[in-house]
Amino acid sequence: MSEEVKTQTDQPWFAQGLAFECTRCGACCTGEPGFVWVTDDELKQIAVFLGQPIAEVRDLYSRKARGKRTLREQANGDCVFYDRKKGCTIYPVRPPQCRTWPFWESNVETPEDWKRTCEVCPGSGKGEVIPVEEISRRLKVIKM
Ligand code: SF4
Repeated sequence: MSEEVKTQTDQPWFAQGLAFECTRCGACCTGEPGFVWVTDDELKQIAVFLGQPIAEVRDLYSRKARGKRTLREQANGDCVFYDRKKGCTIYPVRPPQCRTWPFWESNVETPEDWKRTCEVCPGSGKGEVIPVEEISRRLKVIKM
């Protein structure tokens, strides 16, 4: 966790936890193009889940960007694995970036960052309170 996330008492500003309960609205999987980073190992898990050869999954559903690999998008900008009727079609093996949303440093660095996140994600700020320990664990999974 970066120093900015912590207060002077060494406790993050969200020491009491933050509420989050995904509504499955799909806003974070659709719309404007972005990057969903995946490693070869993660692509392998997706391939096993889909029952397709790894090379095929890698070529069909991911592309190179900034020296790494990211999931491809559909023509409308939706994630290649997002189905507007069914939702995420690889949910059990979705990449860590999706798994840890909205608990990325960029989203919780300050209360203002969290407020901005709540404005774009209807599940953020509502529902179950996620304890600080779990938020801190998710923050360490991927730097976003
Ligand atoms: S934007 Fe938030 S509520 Fe909607 S699918 Fe993504 S995580 Fe869930």
